[in-house]
Amino acid sequence: MNLILLGPPGCGKGTQAVNLVKKYNYCQLSTGDILREAVANETQTGKIVKDVLASGKLVDDGLIIKIMEEKIIETKSKPGRIFDGFPRTLTQANELEGLLKRFQMELNLVIELVVDQHSLIERIMKRAQESEEKREDDNSVIVEKRLEVYNRETKPIIDFYSSKYNLNKIDGMQGIQEVSNTIENLIESIH
Ligand code: AMP
Repeated sequence: MNLILLGPPGCGKGTQAVNLVKKYNYCQLSTGDILREAVANETQTGKIVKDVLASGKLVDDGLIIKIMEEKIIETKSKPGRIFDGFPRTLTQANELEGLLKRFQMELNLVIELVVDQHSLIERIMKRAQESEEKREDDNSVIVEKRLEVYNRETKPIIDFYSSKYNLNKIDGMQGIQEVSNTIENLIESIH
């Protein structure tokens, strides 16, 4: 199972991915988490991306593709992969197609969590207050920037997936459990 979770920052992709990991033993491939870990461990990649993450802009496509290629290889034996926060540009979406083809894998499900833009800032600021881990980019100025980057760079991939695949839109304003149930029903419908 290869599943993409699409949607703006704060729409609940991470929460839903964690649920699917628990339920189906899928692997969560969150580029944001991978990059934050690299920064925390001060790896070479971490040093390159640190300032980009703090600014709310996107990391270079080439670097992201290289990371994801390694992760797909690493998780080949897993029953599924959830792409969370990736792809984020049309280039990444096209590259993912190539990677999956190369590894003889299919893209089984594309889900967009649709959330009212006004609620996003509120949600992210609430998450920042409640979370033990401090994210440098969870402050109101950078959150605005991340939403602007999402609207400009990532939204076009919604059309890309709508035209090529069956894009499943889910109302992300519902409760966490309702969203989880809808996602699980979709997964089970294609098993
Ligand atoms: P996220 O945790 O998904 O909100 O990602 C946090 C930050 O990591 C983003 O604001 C970007 O700077 C970077 N990032 C995460 N995923 C990607 C991606 N697929 N392409 C480029 N940059 C990314």
